[in-house]
Amino acid sequence: MNPPAEATAPRPLRRVVVTGSAGFIGSHLSRALLAAGVTVVGVDRRNPTSDPVAAANLAELGGFPRHIPVTVDLLDCPLEPLLLDTDAVFHLAGLPGVRRSWGVGFDAYVSANVQATQRVMDAATRLRVPRVVLASSSSVYGATSGAPSTEADTPRPASPYAVTKLAAEHLCLAQAARPDSATTVAVLRYFTVYGPRQRNDMLIHRALTAVLHQVPLRVFGDGRQRRDFTYVDDVVRATIAAATVPTGNAVINVGAGASATVSDVLTVAQRLTGQPVPVIPSAARAGDVPGTLAETARARQLLGWKPEVSLEAGIGRQLRHLQALRPHAVR
Ligand code: NAD
Repeated sequence: MNPPAEATAPRPLRRVVVTGSAGFIGSHLSRALLAAGVTVVGVDRRNPTSDPVAAANLAELGGFPRHIPVTVDLLDCPLEPLLLDTDAVFHLAGLPGVRRSWGVGFDAYVSANVQATQRVMDAATRLRVPRVVLASSSSVYGATSGAPSTEADTPRPASPYAVTKLAAEHLCLAQAARPDSATTVAVLRYFTVYGPRQRNDMLIHRALTAVLHQVPLRVFGDGRQRRDFTYVDDVVRATIAAATVPTGNAVINVGAGASATVSDVLTVAQRLTGQPVPVIPSAARAGDVPGTLAETARARQLLGWKPEVSLEAGIGRQLRHLQALRPHAVR
C-alpha cells in the first residue's frame, strides 16, 4: 500500500527552533532559514553581549525581523514556551571536540550532549513537534578500516565525546519510537565541517590563522590522518532537507564523500596564500582516529542532497573571510 500523500509531501517550514544558534554551524543554518523567510527561535547559552565569538557568529542575523534570539541554558530553562507551535527543532547545541572530553571534562560533555538532548527531545515529543533534526557526528564510527562509513556500520566510539553523541542519537531515536510519538527524528552524522567562522580549535581555521600570521601551527600526529572535510553551506542544505523531506526516523551521514590528509590541507593553505605554513610537530592526541570518510548514498537517496563545494574552493572562501577580518595579514 502506498503511504498517504501527506506522509510523502515536503513539509513547509514556518517557524522553527535552532539550538546552538550562536555556534559555528547553528549560525549558518539560522541565516539560511531566515533568508528563506522562516521564523527562527535561536536558542543558545552563550550571550553575544559578553561572548565575542557568539557576537561574531550572530552578527549577520541582526537584520532579520523573523529572528528571535533566546539566551538560555537548555539544561534548566522551561522548554515548552520555546517549542510551542514549532514545525521543526534543529538540535545543534552541544559541546564539540574530542580532546577535552577526557578526564574531568567528561561531566560537561554529558550535560551538554546527553542531558540537554534528552530534555529537548522529551519536550518536542510531548508537544508533538513533527520533526527533530539532531546534529550528531562521524566520530561515533571510531577507528575505521579506511573504507567509507555507512550508517549500518556498528558504531565504535573512540572518545568520551563520541560516546555522548552516540547516546544522544539513541535517546532521540528511542523517544521517537514510542508508540504515542508524533515526532520523527533525523539523526545527521556530520563529518568535519569547515567554512567561515569555523571553531578556532579546528584544523583548517588553525592552519589558515598560522599562515596568515606566520605563527607556528601545532600538528598532532604524523599529518597523515585523513578527514572527510565538509563545507558548511553543504551541511546547511542537508540539514534543512532533513527537516522538510519526510524520511521518517533515519540516521544519515552528511559528508563530502572524499577525504584529505592534514598535510593536504596545509598544501592547499600554502598554495592559496603563497606562504609556507610553519609547523610544530606534536604527539597524536587520544581519541583522534586515523581517518573518516562518509558513504553518502543514503543522503543522496533520502534527501536528494549532494555536496557541491570542493575542498580547495571551500578553504578559499574561509581564507577570504579571515582576510576580511584581518586586512593587514599576509595576502
Ligand atoms: P559550536 O561550539 O560552535 O556550537 C555549539 C553551540 O551550542 C554553542 O554556541 C554553545 O553555546 C551551544 N550550547 C552548548 N550547550 C548548550 C546548552 N546546554 N544550552 C544552550 N546552548 C548550548 O559547535 P559547532 O561546530 O557549530 O557544532 C554544532 C553541533 O554539530 C554540535 O552538536 C557538534 O557536536 C556537532 N558536530 C560538529 C562538527 C563540526 O565539524 N563542527 C562535526 C560533527 C558534529
